[in-house]
Amino acid sequence: MLTAIVGTNWGDEGKGRMVDLLCEEMDVVARYQGGNNAGHTVINDRGKFILNLLPSGILHENKVNLMGNGMVIDIEHLCGEIEKLRAAGVSITPDNLKISSGATITMPYDKAMDILEEDRLGDAKYGSTRRGIAPVYGDKYMKKGVRIADLLYSDEELLAELENILSWKNLTIHGGYGAEPYKAGDMLAWLRKFGDPIKPFITNSTVYLTQQHKAGKNIMFEAQLGTLRDIDYGIYPYTTSSTTLAAFAPIGAGVPGLRLDRVVGVMKAYSSCVGAGPFTCELFGEKGDELREAGGEYGAATGRPRRVGGFDVVASRYGAMMQGCTEIALTKLDVLSYLKEIPVCVSYDCYGETEHDFPTGHRLDAAKPNYEYFEGFGADISSCRKKEDLPAAARRYIDYIEREVDCRISYVSVGPAREDIIYM
Ligand code: GDP
Repeated sequence: MLTAIVGTNWGDEGKGRMVDLLCEEMDVVARYQGGNNAGHTVINDRGKFILNLLPSGILHENKVNLMGNGMVIDIEHLCGEIEKLRAAGVSITPDNLKISSGATITMPYDKAMDILEEDRLGDAKYGSTRRGIAPVYGDKYMKKGVRIADLLYSDEELLAELENILSWKNLTIHGGYGAEPYKAGDMLAWLRKFGDPIKPFITNSTVYLTQQHKAGKNIMFEAQLGTLRDIDYGIYPYTTSSTTLAAFAPIGAGVPGLRLDRVVGVMKAYSSCVGAGPFTCELFGEKGDELREAGGEYGAATGRPRRVGGFDVVASRYGAMMQGCTEIALTKLDVLSYLKEIPVCVSYDCYGETEHDFPTGHRLDAAKPNYEYFEGFGADISSCRKKEDLPAAARRYIDYIEREVDCRISYVSVGPAREDIIYM
């Protein structure tokens, strides 16, 4: 069985807790895109862990974790992440961690490029995480990336590759930005320092996943970021630099010919968005502040307040459709308990026309929200464990979302703990 678990909106939908829950049923957890530019915090009996690169199954016993071809991996960051987990008693061996030989290494000069460019942009900056993600995907598509398999080259071969890449890269870093040029010898030393420890994990992910699939194992594909951050179908250019969508999961993990059996879309009962870019349903002033406070919508790493809004029917329907969701996990419904009336963005107004389909480009920039208000739940719902426990207004709200996004809601979460969940 192949299952993907993905975000349907702008990210921070509460994917971490759903991944944690679904992990139990899985044999293999694979990541298929992105790097250490996002992550989730997982809290369990062993402590609090931040996973930026490692798949979430690493915190569960007897799960194999795979980092796929489609990922970009800062091996220095990875070594740090492995070290921290090992210090907390988590066992990480080639038996439970496999790294695809085709994944691309995020190099120190990629990070430097990211920082140089954000600084050059000044106030017009994208709000990049400055972790080299866009530059390293750029290298990949310019065919100038260093791949995980290259760690197995001799020093001589690797040095020749690095010299070739840097003769091009330094044209920009040194010639363009005027920064110190990077030296092939230094990069070789860096690759050896952080690459040697991860050599035992290098795997042909295609061979491995094909075998697992044939053996009838349950494989989960774990996404980073949501639909609207997809490079092609998101709110470009306020997107990430890779394909976040479920359709890409088999390709990015190593089994392009396989089709997913199940796509679980994680969708929040209201909206939040980090950073710049169009966010039509945004609520401002007191209404926004109250919702942000109720939902604890502050960046996990930075503490920065997130932008918030009511549930956005237009964006969420699009998000679920683009992911090809077979079911939805609706999260953080309990957060709305304080509201007397619940704001929902039911459509957009684009240049005087009512828009139900998610627009792109200038139409999205110009879009204004059309809000309708739903009856509040009238009670704290965080202790509800069955559909029947929910107040009628909450059930109507869930039914409404199910109908509007045209996908079955199979889970509703009503609190952050593992047991705060209703199986619908
Ligand atoms: P992710 O990256 O998609 O997992 O999203 P976040 O990192 O923003 O995680 C969502 C936050 O909301 C975490 O602090 C969770 O513990 C919390 N959370 C998840 N589900 C629920 C829920 O149903 N209710 C409440 N109140 N909090 C939740």
